[in-house]
Amino acid sequence: METGSCLCGAVTFEGQRSDRGIGVCHCKMCRVQNSGPLMAVKFENGVSLTEARGLKWFASSDKGKRGFCGECGSTLFWSAPYAAEGAWDVSVGALDDAVDDQIFEHIFVESQPTYYDFADGAPRKRSDQS
Ligand SMILES: [Zn+2]
Ligand SMILES: [Zn+2]
Repeated sequence: METGSCLCGAVTFEGQRSDRGIGVCHCKMCRVQNSGPLMAVKFENGVSLTEARGLKWFASSDKGKRGFCGECGSTLFWSAPYAAEGAWDVSVGALDDAVDDQIFEHIFVESQPTYYDFADGAPRKRSDQS
């Protein structure tokens, strides 16, 4: 069982992450929200909220909504409209344990700026490929 929380503790959660690794999204919306790409792991069997009082959702497009803490602003979750209840992508930075997962893919790489790059060899996909 994995645990995680926002900066202030107004959102805490637990669940089991997928072993496929970390997905990195370079789209403009993720970069506006995070000042960098969103790095997230999937909780396929669902996130269980152990404290939800701070949780807010923002529908950033018709493709997904973003869960964050309304108290401290931490990025927490991403949910597709078709996702099963609680089967969210979870910001890897919000997990309590150091994560040694590998990155398995990069998406929206056509939106990646030139001022950063990653050293891993995972596939780079444009939005029309993912
Ligand atoms: Zn918080
Ligand atoms: Zn994105």
